Amino acid sequence: MARATPEWHSAPNPPAALGHRYSSAEGLELLQKMPMGELMGLAYAARRKRLPNDIVTFVADTNPNYTNVCESGCRFCAFRRQADDEAAFTHPPEVIAEKVRQAQRRGATTVLLQGGHNPAIGVKDWLAYLRAIQTACPAIHIHPFSPAEMVYMADKEGVPLRDLLQMIYDAGVRTLPGGGAEILSERVRAEIAPAKATAFEWLEVSRLAHEVGFRTTATMMFGHVETDAEIVAHLVALRDLQDRSGGFTSFIPWSFKPGNSPLGQQIQGQVHPAKYIRVIATARLMLDNFPHIQSSWFSESVPAGQMGLLAGADDFGGLLIEENVHLSAGHDRATTMADVLTIIRRSGFTPAQRDSSYRIIKRFDPPTVVGCAVDP
Ligand code: SF4
Repeated sequence: MARATPEWHSAPNPPAALGHRYSSAEGLELLQKMPMGELMGLAYAARRKRLPNDIVTFVADTNPNYTNVCESGCRFCAFRRQADDEAAFTHPPEVIAEKVRQAQRRGATTVLLQGGHNPAIGVKDWLAYLRAIQTACPAIHIHPFSPAEMVYMADKEGVPLRDLLQMIYDAGVRTLPGGGAEILSERVRAEIAPAKATAFEWLEVSRLAHEVGFRTTATMMFGHVETDAEIVAHLVALRDLQDRSGGFTSFIPWSFKPGNSPLGQQIQGQVHPAKYIRVIATARLMLDNFPHIQSSWFSESVPAGQMGLLAGADDFGGLLIEENVHLSAGHDRATTMADVLTIIRRSGFTPAQRDSSYRIIKRFDPPTVVGCAVDP
C-alpha cells in the first residue's frame, strides 16, 4: 500500500522558500501542518541566514518585583495579591536597590524591574526606584516597566503615554520589557485579562516607545484559550509594527503555567513541548524582521529550550537570579551560569553573554565533544 503523502506536501502553495514573507494562512500551515523536521530545518536555515554563526546568547539578569499588589486580576496570574493579603508586599526603593546590589555581586548585569498594577504606586515611585538602583549600582542596565504597566500608570496618573515614556527615557532607561502581550487578541484578553491593557494599547505603547528611542522586546503567552489562528495573528501584528517602527529586539514566547491560578482551574495540563518548538520555528519564519528569537530553558524545560535552538532561536534568555512570577505558579528553576553554559554547549552552540541591547559582553569557549554524546 502506498504511503500517504504528508498533508503539507500537497498544500497548493507550500511556503518553502527562504526569504519569502509568509502570509497568515501560510503561518497557520507552518504552525499546524508542516512536518516537525521540515519546519525545524526551515526555521534553522532562516536563523543561519540572519545570524550566520553558532552563537547562542544569554543575559545575566535578576527580576525583583517592586510590588505584588495588583488590581487587574488577570485570570492566569498566581502572583498578584490584594492589598490586605498577608502575602502582599510593596518594597521601598532602598530594598529594591539592595536586591539589585546583591544580584550584581552574583554576576547580574541587568535588572528586569516589573510589578503589579498597584494604585499606591505612582510615577514618582517609579523614578525613585530607578534613582535608587542607579545610585547603588551605576553599571547595571535597568530594563523596567512593561507596556501593560505603562498603560495602567498613564491612566492612573492622567499622563499621556508618550509623556510617561519620555519621563522614563529622560531618567536614563533605554530598553523596556515587552511583558503583558499575552495573546494580542481582544477576544482572548476579554477572557483572560479583561482589566489589563488591550491588544491595541500594548501595540501602541510599543510603537510610541520606539518613537521615543527605546528598544523593546515582544512576548507571547500561549496555551490557554487562544486558537492557532490567534497565535499567527499575534505574530503578524508584531511584524506589521516592526515594519513601521523597527524597535523590537526579540520575540520571547512562553507557555501558560496553570498552577495556582484561576485559569489553571479551568485548563488542566501544560502545553506539550512539541507545540512550543512549533511556535518558536513559526515565529522565526514569520518574524522575518525580528533580529532575535528566544528559546527559554527557564519557562519550558531544558530539553525544550535546547530543541528551540535547533528550531531557529538564537537566544536562551536570562539566568533570572531572582524570579517570583513563575515561582508563584509553582514553576521553580534555579540555575547558575555554569549550568547555562553547559546546556547551550550540549545543544552544539557557542555560548555568549549579552546585555539587554543584545550586545555581546563575553564569548565563551565553543562546545567540545568529550566522551559519550548521549550524556543525559
Ligand atoms: S499578570 Fe500582572 S497585571 Fe495581571 S494580575 Fe498578575 S500582576 Fe496583575
